[in-house]
Amino acid sequence: QGHHIRPLVAGNWKMNGLKDSLGEAVSVRDALTGPLATINADVMIAPPATLIASFAAAAAGSLLRIGAQDCHARPSGAHTGDIAAEMLKDAGATAVILGHSERRADHGETSAEVKAKTAAAHRAGLVAVVCIGETQGERAAGATLNVVSRQLQSSLPAGATAANTVIAYEPVWAIGTGLTPTPGDIEAVHAAIRRDLSESVGVEGTKMRVLYGGSVKPDNAAALMAIPNVNGALVGGASLKASDFLAILRAY
Ligand code: PGA
Repeated sequence: QGHHIRPLVAGNWKMNGLKDSLGEAVSVRDALTGPLATINADVMIAPPATLIASFAAAAAGSLLRIGAQDCHARPSGAHTGDIAAEMLKDAGATAVILGHSERRADHGETSAEVKAKTAAAHRAGLVAVVCIGETQGERAAGATLNVVSRQLQSSLPAGATAANTVIAYEPVWAIGTGLTPTPGDIEAVHAAIRRDLSESVGVEGTKMRVLYGGSVKPDNAAALMAIPNVNGALVGGASLKASDFLAILRAY
């Protein structure tokens, strides 16, 4: 079941955090560097890459972890505009979100690329948060479990362990829309992911964290975390407001 797994709540800031709005962003960060000892979850913020180093410095000595939102598959070289996993690690990140549906859609990232990036994250000593999830059309066609299973199998490299890999199930249609699947639907998908992980990864797959993401808010966080095999949350919009993110964390 995985109910003994320590949850992870990760804030995905996406492309937000301009100087003008940084007051609130910094207050989210600073609100989290204090009170985390009483929260029964690991807590991470993934700000834009330009903020990783300063946020990691500000969070040093606290329980707050800083993550990135993407990396390149190679450690260095002629890849203008890209950032290697090793560089994110140098900047103070301990994790990287990979294969988010916005990257799969905006940049045409395939599961094969996500797999190579996940291997790069492991090589650099970063935790990979690997995102999978069906579109509305795929759900309507009854293909959810097939899509999720195929993405999972083709996005995970050899050597994935419960310590270096987190799965985030994010239905594409639930991201930023205020819509979520029913608890029963989430339970069914997470149970299928758990089965797949135990079969393909083995005992490490029984311990790997499987987060739910997509319109996680203060008022649904407790119900979502109570679903079997939901081992935390990947939070977008609600992670940009200190009061909302702290309210979500209080569910843990
Ligand atoms: P949301 O985003 O919480 O704003 O729906 C989640 C995500 O994209 O990770």
